[in-house]
Amino acid sequence: MSEKTIFAKIIDREIPATIVYEDDRALAFRDINPGAPTHILVIPKKPIDMIENLDESDEALVGHLVVVAKKIAKDEGLTNGYRLVFNNGAEAGQSVFHIHLHLLGGRQLAWPPG
Ligand code: AMP
Repeated sequence: MSEKTIFAKIIDREIPATIVYEDDRALAFRDINPGAPTHILVIPKKPIDMIENLDESDEALVGHLVVVAKKIAKDEGLTNGYRLVFNNGAEAGQSVFHIHLHLLGGRQLAWPPG
C-alpha cells in the first residue's frame, strides 16, 4: 500500500487542521498557506490521487465536493464570487496526491492564474 498523504492524515486526525465542514464523504479545512482571505480545501474521504484516476462511480462524489464548496462559500460570506480549482499533475502544480478542490475568495482574483 502506498504511503498515506498529508490529507489522509488530516482525515484520520493524525495531524491537525482547521476543519470547517465534514460529512460521510467529504472534509473541508483551511489551507495552511492561504492565497486569498478565504482559502479552503474540499477533499473526498476516499483517497483518489489524481483526476485521471477517477472512475464513473466517482461522478456523484466529485459533484458533492462542488456542492460542499458552494455551501462553505455561502457560510464564508463570499457573495461577490469565488474560484473553485483542481490542480492536477506536475504542470498544474499539484503537490498533494489526494484530489482537492480549492475554494478561493474574499478578494479580486486575477485571470489567468500564474
Ligand atoms: P496543490 O498545490 O493544488 O496540490 O495544493 C495543495 C495545497 O495544500 C496547498 O495550497 C498547500 O498550502 C496545502 N496544504 C499542504 N499541507 C497542508 C496542511 N497540513 N494543512 C492545510 N493545507 C495544507
